[in-house]
Amino acid sequence: MNRADSNSLIHSLQSEGFLETTEYIDSDIIIINTCSVRQHAEDRVFARVRLFNAFKKREKKSMKIIVMGCMAQTSKDRLYSLGVDKVFDVYNEIKILDYIKNDDLIENDFNSNYVFSKSYVDKLYTHKAFLPITHGCDNWCTYCIVPHTRGGLISRPSKDILEDLKSLIDSGAKEITLLGQNVNSYGEDTKDMSFVQLLEEVDKTINDSDVWIRFTTSHPKDFDKNLADAIINLKSVCEHIHLPFQSGSNRILNLMDRKYTIEEYLEKVSYLRNITKDFLISTDIIVGFADETDEEFTETLNVIKSIGFEEAYLYKYSERAGTVAHEKKIAYDPNNGSLRLSKLIEIQRAIALSLLTKQVGTFHKVMINSIAKDKNNYLGRTRENRSIVIRLNDDKVLKTGEIYNAKIIDIRGHSLIADII
Ligand code: SAH
Ligand code: SF4
Repeated sequence: MNRADSNSLIHSLQSEGFLETTEYIDSDIIIINTCSVRQHAEDRVFARVRLFNAFKKREKKSMKIIVMGCMAQTSKDRLYSLGVDKVFDVYNEIKILDYIKNDDLIENDFNSNYVFSKSYVDKLYTHKAFLPITHGCDNWCTYCIVPHTRGGLISRPSKDILEDLKSLIDSGAKEITLLGQNVNSYGEDTKDMSFVQLLEEVDKTINDSDVWIRFTTSHPKDFDKNLADAIINLKSVCEHIHLPFQSGSNRILNLMDRKYTIEEYLEKVSYLRNITKDFLISTDIIVGFADETDEEFTETLNVIKSIGFEEAYLYKYSERAGTVAHEKKIAYDPNNGSLRLSKLIEIQRAIALSLLTKQVGTFHKVMINSIAKDKNNYLGRTRENRSIVIRLNDDKVLKTGEIYNAKIIDIRGHSLIADII
């Protein structure tokens, strides 16, 4: 989401005549886009601000340091005390441009006038694009800061999404990711159309087998058979879903207010796995929440073992001031969290390795994303979102954004190695 916001802002600044620098020492204005989901992300921003401000003072520069994004809601005063010139609430391109151009601005209430910006292809990978379809979130998972920093759910009108989609395709986008905190709740506020209907419209609009659609994130409580069937039946929609389960324990899921049981989650996954063999499901997990017991942690381990995720994002609970969990003083033990996180990472890596090894010998369509840093290989992804290293073949130049048939011939570390066939 932040990457989409940053791309849009960069595009607008460039069309106003601003130039992007590669080094902060050369800039007149530094804009930092921020995330508050975990403490670690915020700490990195504080460190950057200190670095930039120290440079500014030492060199007596008149550069402006601007912070935008979720940290405006959580850390405004501290950011100002560290030398930031202006802190903006959730992303608001118009306000930022006004400030940069005029040095003054009219303050608006938080999230009262949220405007979706036009989407552009990614700056680095011009065949990729992010297309926000919703902003904010109404779910209020008790550990999560997002509804507090980004506000409630706002769905973008489908007409605007489809127009943006067409213009992204005209600009060369080949992999378009629809974005929202919980894309499944698209349209619940506006009653415009449901997420499945939106996917159907997107698929109709595309009409080109070389454009792939992805979306993230899905919430298990809203994920249903209609959506599973749509993913399978719509040609442009890739066979991958990111479906965070967070914890294998029903007591913890309840305290997180996730609104599903682990049995329901398992049933939904098995529906998907029954209708298609090769379907990648990735997930997010939080350990150490709400005085999680050893048994409850084992329940989480049992879920990752029984489902077999090739990709999982694993976190130790990070308490965020202002969340329901913080207000209710839900207890947790950070040391336990760290120990469990290391154990979980180790077990998940072994599971991923054994699943990936089974891919050797299989055939896939792969979209090329870039040339690897070592210049000896290309990097790409399959429709299921598996990351693939493609060996450079002297007489064949591959184009980014193009789709090739590939055979996976080896695995090194956790990387799948393929040849174009
Ligand atoms: N809207 C998405 C993404 C939310 S943030 C979703 O619901 O899936 C991405 C992930 O960060 C979450 O899925 C969760 O696993 C993790 N996360 C969120 N808040 C956290 C916290 N306070 N501590 C640790 N991990 C957290
Ligand atoms: Fe946070 Fe839950 Fe909303 Fe995701 S669904 S953004 S975890 S409140």
